[in-house]
Amino acid sequence: MFNCDQCGLCCKKVGVTEQYKHLDRGDGVCLHFDTSTNLCGIYEDRPVICRVDESYDLFFKDQISLQEFYSLNYKACDTLKRLELHKMSDLKLAFEDKFEELFGYKPWNGDEKQVRNALEIICQGKSKKDEIIAIIDTSISTNGKSGMVLTLDSVYVKDAGNSTSKFIAKYEDIESTYINEDRFLGVDITALELNTNYGTQYRISIDKISKRKLMEFLDYASSLYQEDDKLEW
Ligand code: SF4
Ligand code: SF4
Repeated sequence: MFNCDQCGLCCKKVGVTEQYKHLDRGDGVCLHFDTSTNLCGIYEDRPVICRVDESYDLFFKDQISLQEFYSLNYKACDTLKRLELHKMSDLKLAFEDKFEELFGYKPWNGDEKQVRNALEIICQGKSKKDEIIAIIDTSISTNGKSGMVLTLDSVYVKDAGNSTSKFIAKYEDIESTYINEDRFLGVDITALELNTNYGTQYRISIDKISKRKLMEFLDYASSLYQEDDKLEW
C-alpha cells in the first residue's frame, strides 16, 4: 500500500497539474482541502486520481510495475517537500536579515518555555515553531500572557491588559500602515496602525519595540506577499 504521511502538499498544488486542475479553488489549493486540519475534506469520497493504489489498478497496471509506480509517486512527494523547505528557508532568511538590518540585532531565539508560551498564548495554536521570526515583549518570559510574535506569514499581537490589542493579521492582508501620533489626557498614546484589505484596522501600541521600525518590517513583509513571483515556485 502507498505510504502517504499526509503532509498535504500535493493537495495544495493541484493548480499546477493538468489532471488535477479542475479541483483548483483559484489559488492552486484543492477546493476539497480542509486548511484547518491540513487533510482532505472528502477523504472517503475523494476522486480516483487521488487514490494511488486504485489509480495504479485502473490506469497504469499494464504499463509499469507497482514498485515503479510507487517510486515515481514518492519522488514527486519528495520534490514537493524539498521545494517547500527551500521556499520556507529562503523566506525565513529574508525576514531575519530584514529584522537585523532594522533593529540591529538578530531576531530573538527563546528557550523552549518561551517559545511554547508564544505559540500557545500569543499565536493560539495557529503557527508552528519553525515559522517564528521573532518574539517581542519581555512579558512573555515572565507570564507569557502578552506580546507579539512575527512569523513567516503573520503578525500576532496579544496584550493582556487591553482586549482591543489582540489580533492576527496576515502579511498578505496588510494594505497600509501608519503611525498615529496621539495624546490622551496628556499621555502619549502613539500607535502603529494597520489597515487590512478586508476593512479592519488594528492598533499596535506595545512599547518595547520601535513602532517605526516595526512598521518598516511589516511593510517589507506585506510587499513580499504582494509580489507573487517572489513566492512562486
Ligand atoms: S505530497 Fe505525498 S506524502 Fe504528502 S500528502 Fe501528498 S501523497 Fe501524501
Ligand atoms: S480531493 Fe482530497 S485528496 Fe484529492 S487533491 Fe483534493 S484535498 Fe487532496
